[in-house]
Amino acid sequence: MIQIENLTKNFIVGEDTLTAVKEVNLKIEKGEIFGIIGLSGAGKSTLIRCVNRLEEPSSGKIVIDGIDITGLGKEDLRKQRKEIGMIFQHFNLLSQKTVYENIAFPLQLERQSSEQIENRVNELLSYVELTDKKYAYPSQLSGGQKQRVAIARAIANKPKLLLSDEGTSALDPKTTKSILSLLNKIRKELGLTIVMITHQMEVVKEICDRVAIMENGRIIEVNTVENLFKSPQTKTAKNFVNAIP
Ligand code: ATP
Ligand code: MG
Repeated sequence: MIQIENLTKNFIVGEDTLTAVKEVNLKIEKGEIFGIIGLSGAGKSTLIRCVNRLEEPSSGKIVIDGIDITGLGKEDLRKQRKEIGMIFQHFNLLSQKTVYENIAFPLQLERQSSEQIENRVNELLSYVELTDKKYAYPSQLSGGQKQRVAIARAIANKPKLLLSDEGTSALDPKTTKSILSLLNKIRKELGLTIVMITHQMEVVKEICDRVAIMENGRIIEVNTVENLFKSPQTKTAKNFVNAIP
């Protein structure tokens, strides 16, 4: 599904070059829920932002279902981005728009008819169980409800890949569970591949199939979650595993 080959991302900061992602190689299978963990500044966000080219990689390749997205021009990239949804820690909803309008937004960008949009948004609202909040504004919602709206928006265009950058980090444990079960349902019923950055080992344990551990821009370990908890290979992985009560 996703093949990351020798990916490096440098940032130029004043006179210095900061290497945020260094020679990363990774293969993620279709239908997997793949976790990425690592300390703050390890390069996790930069790595997944390269996957939809919110960051331009400095070198290396990202191949999604056989398409090298690093080589795409503007128009092809726009098409490819439709296949990738993304959610964030702070939800990133449009505060001046209602729930309905937030979810409709990516469909309007695709110039769908208002009838098509209405049908699809209603379907999505029911899927994320927020039909009663259709005309609410984000400020009137709980954190979990906001993330459900963000998830509905992210999957509106029927992507094959969902990226989550700390999507449950701002939520309490109970709400986190409900969002994880929604993500699981999306993987099962819609067949999406999900890549999720998290610092919550409970999240890794609960939902991920495999996990990569990042440190200083590099991936230092890739493991199944089962093996990660049984026999972590690196010191950093051990520290993460031991951090769970
Ligand atoms: P966190 O867990 O805190 O979110 P992270 O693992 O997601 O951390 P990144 O945000 O990917 O880390 O950052 C990796 C490194 O790249 C950091 O040193 C950061 O300061 C740097 N960095 C990220 N974005 C930029 C940017 N736009 N310009 C310059 N440096 C950046
Ligand atoms: Mg980050």
